[in-house]
Amino acid sequence: MPLTDLNKNLPQLCDTTSCTGCGACVNSCAHQALCLTASAEGFYHQTIDAQRCVGCKLCERSCPVLNPPVRHNTEKLRAFAAWHKDEDIRRESSSGGAFSAFASFVLSQGGCVVGAAYGKDLHIEHIVVETEEELRRLRLSKYSQSFIGGVLSEVKSRLKAGQTVLFTGTPCQVSGLVRFLGRDYTNLITIDLICHGVPSPKFLQKYRESLEPRFGKIDKIDFRNKRKGWYDNLRVVYTENGKSHAMRGHNDAYWVAFSRDTCLMESCYQCRAQGFPRCSTFTLADFWRIGHRVPFGHKDEIEKGISLIIVNDESKVSLLQELTGRLYLEERTIDEAIGGNLSGVQSHHRPSDRSSFYADLEKMSWQGFRQRYLTPNTRERLVKMFRERLPFWLIKRIRLIKQK
Ligand SMILES: Cc1cc2nc3c(=O)[nH]c(=O)nc-3n(C[C@H](O)[C@H](O)[C@H](O)COP(=O)(O)OP(=O)(O)OC[C@H]3O[C@@H](n4cnc5c(N)ncnc54)[C@H](O)[C@@H]3O)c2cc1C
Ligand code: SF4
Ligand code: SF4
Ligand code: SF4
Repeated sequence: MPLTDLNKNLPQLCDTTSCTGCGACVNSCAHQALCLTASAEGFYHQTIDAQRCVGCKLCERSCPVLNPPVRHNTEKLRAFAAWHKDEDIRRESSSGGAFSAFASFVLSQGGCVVGAAYGKDLHIEHIVVETEEELRRLRLSKYSQSFIGGVLSEVKSRLKAGQTVLFTGTPCQVSGLVRFLGRDYTNLITIDLICHGVPSPKFLQKYRESLEPRFGKIDKIDFRNKRKGWYDNLRVVYTENGKSHAMRGHNDAYWVAFSRDTCLMESCYQCRAQGFPRCSTFTLADFWRIGHRVPFGHKDEIEKGISLIIVNDESKVSLLQELTGRLYLEERTIDEAIGGNLSGVQSHHRPSDRSSFYADLEKMSWQGFRQRYLTPNTRERLVKMFRERLPFWLIKRIRLIKQK
């Protein structure tokens, strides 16, 4: 068959500027014609094998960018502040540990939990866990795109077999699952995050390689360690030999690019999964600025991390009652919840140096690249150095002054 005939029926899927790598198309193709591969920038996007494609277009119909999933029709959005009652779990979590409370509940019912874990060489991938021990791998925010692979098909099989599944991920990943499934399952709970955006796995690898001569083989990076409090998070690197190393924030190259938005996936600058209500059951986030406008009666809890839970599917709000043994919950206003966290409702602005960031990551030496893109300016450095030298009790005292 001439190539033109072959191409005629190929699906028109997203290009690398709009594809989120959610994997819905890949999982929906019965002919193994699609897979997720790393682009030149290192992000996972769909690629097609034209020889295998039969032109059924099932993949197009599954794509949440081309066909956005139906959002819940909730009249009154409800928001809760929450934190895990187990201090160790809360310390191991990026916010207040609400995710672990949902996950433990589902595991206790014989269900499974799907989320992002660090694998070999700090590669991040979505995995399925069925025990509390494995659940520890899903805790913590990992600040890079997670590889979704074939996990959506596995979720579908488990749902069909009647198992309760808790699926967690970025909003685009949850949208992908919802489109891929194409119907409701009463045994499915989905949790997405308020999402700033994701840097590429390639950038995380280069960063890891830059640290290993100093620390040795790295197993895990906690970008949000709360030793210095929840707001002034520290980067802590865990190595294969069981040691941990705290890094001073003002030196942290990765965080400079993340907070300046120079390294995000192209689709993050025009994210279609934000806003409320969403298609997920619940949204989790940090409850930033809690108590700034509306009085909050638990000031001493703030530096340990407070989770925000937004209920998108009001028919599932009763599930929160099941969590009260594990989770402290307090209802707050939705204005307070979203007002301190604009990533929930709008995309971050694409800075002009985003255009050259990944090309330069490829061609420049790490030293040169770091100098050009990853060095904090004088003001950022001074603020961070000042904070790092303050004792934790004083940081806490200063923060409390800002509380109502
Ligand atoms: C890339 C990224 C950006 C975020 N941006 C914001 C933000 O702008 N504002 C805000 O309030 N909160 C943001 N969050 C969410 C926040 O950091 C916490 O993850 C969330 O509040 C849940 O915290 P927790 O204490 O309940 O559980 P934790 O144990 O800290 O979180 C674990 C959960 O996060 C999921 N997860 C971790 N890394 C990834 C990843 N790379 N991809 C997909 N899922 C992942 C796990 O599957 C699990 O469900 C972001 C998270 C990530 C991963
Ligand atoms: S059109 Fe059909 S066969 Fe071709 S990639 Fe899409 S799902 Fe697979
Ligand atoms: S379904 Fe997901 S992975 Fe496939 S093209 Fe659409 S956004 Fe990309
Ligand atoms: S900002 Fe949007 S597109 Fe980017 S990772 Fe988050 S949900 Fe996906």
